[in-house]
Amino acid sequence: MDPRIKSIEDQVNNFLIKTKEDLESYRLQFISKKGVVSSLFDEMKTMASEHKKQMGKSLNDLKQLAEERFKTAQEALENNASTASADVDLTLPMIPNKTGSQHPLNLTRFRIIEIFERLGFNVEDGPEIENDWHNFTALNFPENHPAREMQDTFFVEKNPDVLLRTHTSNVQIRLMKNRKPPFRAIMPGRVYRNEAISARAHCFFHQVEGLYVDKNVGFADLKQTLYHFAKEMFGKETKIRLRPSFFPFTEPSAEIDISCLICHGKGCNVCKYSGWVEIAGSGMVHPNVLRNCGIDPEEYTGFAFGMGIERITMLRYSINDLRLFSENDIRFLKQFKPVI
Ligand SMILES: [Zn+2]
Repeated sequence: MDPRIKSIEDQVNNFLIKTKEDLESYRLQFISKKGVVSSLFDEMKTMASEHKKQMGKSLNDLKQLAEERFKTAQEALENNASTASADVDLTLPMIPNKTGSQHPLNLTRFRIIEIFERLGFNVEDGPEIENDWHNFTALNFPENHPAREMQDTFFVEKNPDVLLRTHTSNVQIRLMKNRKPPFRAIMPGRVYRNEAISARAHCFFHQVEGLYVDKNVGFADLKQTLYHFAKEMFGKETKIRLRPSFFPFTEPSAEIDISCLICHGKGCNVCKYSGWVEIAGSGMVHPNVLRNCGIDPEEYTGFAFGMGIERITMLRYSINDLRLFSENDIRFLKQFKPVI
């Protein structure tokens, strides 16, 4: 066989035909009157008759191969075009992208972090499974305090006690124990209590606690910081009120109320007609807690506070059932700000 025929056969088989333009250049190269196959036919006419017969058979085979390849490629291109036009109806309205939304608890957490970061507070993190010392003893909880009971807390092990933390105060203890003051930090995180699940209580929820320890930190600093927070979080008109309270880890202690966002102090069922809504617990860090962490309470003082992210989110978005946050009901979740 003429080596040129073999070479053209290879070219025909390997020619890539993906577009109409490819098909046309294929046609010009191999099938048209000026193509390579035709020119070999022309050449054959001048040959001696014994060569002519042999060459003629090979050339006819080549011509057939080239034409078949052309036909198959042409059909394939036409089919693709018709499928594509059937799939896309440009007159239809577009299908909207399904974008996820941010969980309302995260939206609130991010906002709280943003406010305190601008005041120079770092974000600190710590373990959710904690030993008794970091969760209770270091925080000045007396031996027989009811919060240490099995009924109130989830224990992982007893003697020595290991439990799911009941507040993020364990992070405050770890911070004070491991580093030197001054500290200015907030601790957002998940906490656990052995509560029956209802519209107002859950066995897990989220807190943000704050700690500020330095020389000459006073109660006025605590009040001003939380007043600033309330105005940033709930609006410039928001007022705060401090009510004396008791916590083992702070002295003096106070509950922080804000003026009711719904009725602005006139009285409604959200504020139980008092005009005030509780948002946080706070106080000056108890000298025993500082001592437990190796800090001299004569040299350093500090304030601490803690608030529930669920509680603040419920106030922000007028949500009346705590269980909605963890039920993963898409109708509830998709009402909040999209991720993008
Ligand atoms: Zn009210």
